[in-house]
Amino acid sequence: MSMPDAMPLPGVGEELKQAKEIEDAEKYSFMATVTKAPKKQIQFADDMQEFSKFPTKTGRRSLSRSISQSSTDSYSSAASYTDSSDDEVSPREKQQTNSKGSSNFCVKNIKQAEFGRREIEIAEQDMSALISLRKRAQGEKPLAGAKIVGCTHITAQTAVLIETLCALGAQCRWSACNIYSTQNEVAAALAEAGVAVFAWKGESEDDFWWCIDRCVNMDGWQANMILDDGGDLTHWVYKKYPNVFKKIRGIVEESVTGVHRLYQLSKAGKLCVPAMNVNDSVTKQKFDNLYCCRESILDGLKRTTDVMFGGKQVVVCGYGEVGKGCCAALKALGAIVYITEIDPICALQACMDGFRVVKLNEVIRQVDVVITCTGNKNVVTREHLDRMKNSCIVCNMGHSNTEIDVTSLRTPELTWERVRSQVDHVIWPDGKRVVLLAEGRLLNLSCSTVPTFVLSITATTQALALIELYNAPEGRYKQDVYLLPKKMDEYVASLHLPSFDAHLTELTDDQAKYLGLNKNGPFKPNYYR
Ligand code: NAD
Repeated sequence: MSMPDAMPLPGVGEELKQAKEIEDAEKYSFMATVTKAPKKQIQFADDMQEFSKFPTKTGRRSLSRSISQSSTDSYSSAASYTDSSDDEVSPREKQQTNSKGSSNFCVKNIKQAEFGRREIEIAEQDMSALISLRKRAQGEKPLAGAKIVGCTHITAQTAVLIETLCALGAQCRWSACNIYSTQNEVAAALAEAGVAVFAWKGESEDDFWWCIDRCVNMDGWQANMILDDGGDLTHWVYKKYPNVFKKIRGIVEESVTGVHRLYQLSKAGKLCVPAMNVNDSVTKQKFDNLYCCRESILDGLKRTTDVMFGGKQVVVCGYGEVGKGCCAALKALGAIVYITEIDPICALQACMDGFRVVKLNEVIRQVDVVITCTGNKNVVTREHLDRMKNSCIVCNMGHSNTEIDVTSLRTPELTWERVRSQVDHVIWPDGKRVVLLAEGRLLNLSCSTVPTFVLSITATTQALALIELYNAPEGRYKQDVYLLPKKMDEYVASLHLPSFDAHLTELTDDQAKYLGLNKNGPFKPNYYR
C-alpha cells in the first residue's frame, strides 16, 4: 500500500504547533462556531422532560433521545456474516474470555474473532487514509491518555477506526448505536484485540442501554472523550452520570439527530463541554450525500427488483446533493430522468445538466420509477400513488421515512403482498400493483451496502475531530457546537488522494500572495461547500 503524499497532519504536526500558540478561539480563523440550528427539523418528543431532570455543572439539561432516529440517519455497511445457528443464549448470560484471559467485553461469540479479523483486513484495504493516519501519527501518539467511550455502528469499517484510535494512544470502550447493525464477528475480533466492546446483533432495548452503561460505568476508568452516533450515549451520560462531564474534553457527534440534540442543548445554554459536529463537515456531506447515493441507488434498486434502467422513465424528486447523485447514476445507464424541484436554483442546475424539470403530476402516470430525495414530507401522496401505472417502483433516498405517504396505503381496499425482503407489492382493487421498496425507508441503507471508501472519509473525520478536541488548548473551544476546522477537512481529503495517485498542485509564493492564502491552506472559506 503506497503512503499518501499528504499535507502535514494538522493537530499533531507543524500545523498544530502553530495553532496551539493561538489560545483565543476567536483568533483561530479555522474555527467556525455554528450557532444556527440545522435546517432539518427532527421531532424529539419522548423523554425531554425526564432528561431535563438531570443536573450538570451548569444547571439542568434538556435533551431527548430516539433510538429509531439514531438508527436511521447514519450509515453502516449492513452486511453481517453472522452464523444464524448461533445459540440463543443472551451474551449477557455467557462467561467469555479472550485468548489473553480478559473478559472485559460482551459479544455474541468470541470464537468468531478470526473471521472478524479477516473482515477488518478487507475493510482496511479501502481505508488507506486511516491506516496512513495511524502510521503518520503513531510516533506522537496524539491520543495518549485519551479515554474514549464510543457508540457507533460496529462494523468492519468502524473497527478500523477504533483500532486507529487505539494505535494513536487512546483507550476505548465501545457499544453499538443500532441494535441490528453489529457485525458479531467484528465485535469478537475487537474483543480479542483487547477493546472493551459491548455489542451484538439483535440487542433488546434493555440490552442496548445495558451495553452503553457498561461502557461508561467502570470502576477505575473514566472517559474523557465521547464519540457518538445518534446522541444516545451522550444522553445516557447526561442522564445517569452527569459528573462524568467534569472530565470530558469534548463530544464528537456524527449523525443528524445527535447534532440536532447538541444544538438544542447549546441554544439552551446547557451544553457543558465543546462538541464537534462531524455530520456537517464538507467532506463527509459530499461523500455521504452525493457520491454515496450515486454509488448505491442502482445497487439498491437492482438487488430488490432486477430492473433494467436503459430507456426507463424515472422521476427524481429533489435535485440537491442526494438527487444529483441519483440522477447522475441513472442517466449513465440510459434512463430518461425527470426532476421535480421547489428551488429555482436547483431546478436551473437540473436543466443545465440536461434533465427535464416537471411537476410530479405531469409525469406520474407514465414513469416506471419514482425516487424521493427532498428531506421533506409527503412528497409522494396517496393521490400520486393512485395515479401511478402498473408495476411502478416507488422508493425513498431522502429523509428516513417521511417522503412517501406510506400510511395512506394502509387502507382496507389495498392488499399488501411481501414478495421479497424489503419489497412489497401494494395491489389496488383493479389489479394494479405498485412496487414499494423498504416501506419508504432509505433504500440504500435498507437494501444495499455503503461503500467502505465513504465510511473511510467519515471515520478519518471523526478521528481528526477527536485529536483536535483532545489536544486543543484550554479556551480554544467553549461549551458550544463547532464544525471541524476547514483545514482538517482539507487534510481528510488529502489523505484520500493517494488512493487515486492524484497529485496536488502547490501554490507558488506569488500565487498564494495574489489569492491571499496560506500555501498550506485552508484554501476555501468556511462557508464554501
Ligand atoms: P438538499 O437540501 O441538498 O436537497 C434536497 C432538495 O429537495 C432541495 O434542493 C430542495 O429544494 C428539494 N425539495 C424540498 N422539498 C421538495 C418537494 N416537495 N418537491 C421537490 N423538491 C423538493 O439535501 P440532500 O443533501 O440532497 O439530502 C436530502 C435528504 O437525503 C436529507 O433528508 C438527507 O438527510 C438524506 N440523505 C440520505 C442519504 C442516503 O444515503 N440515502 C445520504 C445523505 C443524506
